[in-house]
Amino acid sequence: MLAGGEAGTDYRPAAPASLDAFFEKVPGGLMLKARASVTVLGSCKRCLAETRLNVPLDFTLSLVRAPSLSREREEASSEPGGPNREGEGSAASFDVRSVEEEQYDGKQVNLGGILREQLLLALPMDVLCREECQGLCSVCGANLNEARCGCERKPPDPRWEKLKGIKL
Ligand SMILES: [Zn+2]
Ligand SMILES: [Zn+2]
Repeated sequence: MLAGGEAGTDYRPAAPASLDAFFEKVPGGLMLKARASVTVLGSCKRCLAETRLNVPLDFTLSLVRAPSLSREREEASSEPGGPNREGEGSAASFDVRSVEEEQYDGKQVNLGGILREQLLLALPMDVLCREECQGLCSVCGANLNEARCGCERKPPDPRWEKLKGIKL
């Protein structure tokens, strides 16, 4: 899941992960509640050391049948006895309008695709091996967490700061 697709990530899996998924039939589709804990390996932003990271996933998705099947959806929502989606303060277990929507063909749910998307959203942009990581020496490349190399390092010129935000 981490390796596939165009939107790549530098994180690698550290251990197998398990997922708890709960589906509930609602008018027009399904409600999915899922929870997982994924352990990944990434490189520390400052010193590049391999860093283990625990990423908890906990999400609720409204799975709506694709528009090509909207005729069926209308029939389903007019079923008698279904929960009233318009009712304010109803005792429904989910508020359908407040959660993210995904489409599916009405027959099969691509749980892998959904999970991948949620996982990529949950992964942090970068990771630090520890909050006070000293990083690498900009002159000799030594890991400053392990040794003082004695190089003279000038503070970065503030005029170049803005260039750091530019992505190539
Ligand atoms: Zn580090
Ligand atoms: Zn150095």
